[in-house]
Amino acid sequence: MNPATRALEANRTDKLREMFREHFGTSARIFRAPGRVNLIGEHTDYNDGFVMPVAIDFATWVAGCANETNSIRAHSRQYNETVTLNLDSLEGPPTGHWSDFVRGVVYGLLQAEQKIVGADLLIDGQVPLGSGLSSSAALELATATALQAISHAQLPAIETVKICQNAEHTFVGARCGIMDQFISQFGQAGHALLLDCRSLEPIAVPIPHGVEIVICNTMVKHELASGEYNRRRADCEEGIRILQNFLPGVRALRDVSLADLEAHRTSFPERIYHRCRHVVTENARTQQFADALTRGDLLTVGRLMAESHESLRADYEVSCPELDAMVQSAAHCEGLIGARMTGGGFGGCTVNLVHADCTEAFAKRVAADYFRATTIEPCVYSTTAAQGAGEVNDDATQVRSRGAR
Ligand code: ADP
Ligand code: MG
Repeated sequence: MNPATRALEANRTDKLREMFREHFGTSARIFRAPGRVNLIGEHTDYNDGFVMPVAIDFATWVAGCANETNSIRAHSRQYNETVTLNLDSLEGPPTGHWSDFVRGVVYGLLQAEQKIVGADLLIDGQVPLGSGLSSSAALELATATALQAISHAQLPAIETVKICQNAEHTFVGARCGIMDQFISQFGQAGHALLLDCRSLEPIAVPIPHGVEIVICNTMVKHELASGEYNRRRADCEEGIRILQNFLPGVRALRDVSLADLEAHRTSFPERIYHRCRHVVTENARTQQFADALTRGDLLTVGRLMAESHESLRADYEVSCPELDAMVQSAAHCEGLIGARMTGGGFGGCTVNLVHADCTEAFAKRVAADYFRATTIEPCVYSTTAAQGAGEVNDDATQVRSRGAR
């Protein structure tokens, strides 16, 4: 974190403490967990495959303090609303309310036999909501980190990650993979993580000097996103069932090569074949990308990002005109290394790697080109690779990160 950013964040922690006192009347400790952007490896996490996310500078902040009751009182600044969750009656189906995320995390922590105490939480999110930068995982991890610290409980960090993922499955109804929660917990400053979603072993790959990560928000979110996400998962599962007739050892698309897939192509309905082809080729691309980034081979990095976007557009069919327009706009800009859609799709953001000395001009040009193509004003953010979840000191340095497992 550079000194200017640190000063801004220190100001933020002061403000949060002040707001907490106004709202709940006591002093608080401050916690944060970052959102994320995925450089490559899209829709591979739930296929036991490879992903390569980066924790971003935008985080969800939670100010918290024990309240000597049997309830969690959580106030979200983004919704300007307080909810009270009784620790004895957390179970229940998804309600569609933001507090489902908090309820699911508290429930999961208690199930893990953690002595979670009643607490007041003030939630302040910097991650744009519903834009594919995982404000949901940031909220979950910030809540889980705060509640464990306040309760003097400490689960292994990987257990916390799984509890947060499960909260989203069971209390929100989104069958997300593990990537978002993993990177929000384990993000390393200056690095992307090549994560094997089967072994959950990450390899930290430094972002090369002079390469900047630029996120372009299309500002659209098409309604079909969550339904289509679950449908893609079902398509992959069907692909596996078909392949298991020929290859009994296959457990997930992670175990399948392109040659396997092509050998049995005629056994697949056309749509399922294309879905599987995306996952199989994306897994290979993600590993090649990690190698290329490590070598500093930016031409290959850019090519692989372009191929990833095309595969998501044509084979997986999760892009949309706005994402395509943003990627095309970026392609015309000086300094671009690579651009692709990121996140589940049907709107949200693109991720761009840009030569650092061109970032400002890039941001202006891509925004103007996108506006010309769509008449939508985009948001363009430049980010560094940030540290994962933790408690924050008065000067905005992190007290202790649980980045090590
Ligand atoms: P994404 O994770 O890409 O931002 P999701 O739809 O998975 O999109 O998660 C967004 C949802 O997470 C919001 O609609 C809200 O319910 C919840 N959420 C995220 N941040 C906050 C916050 N600061 N306060 C309250 N709810 C939040
Ligand atoms: Mg989410």
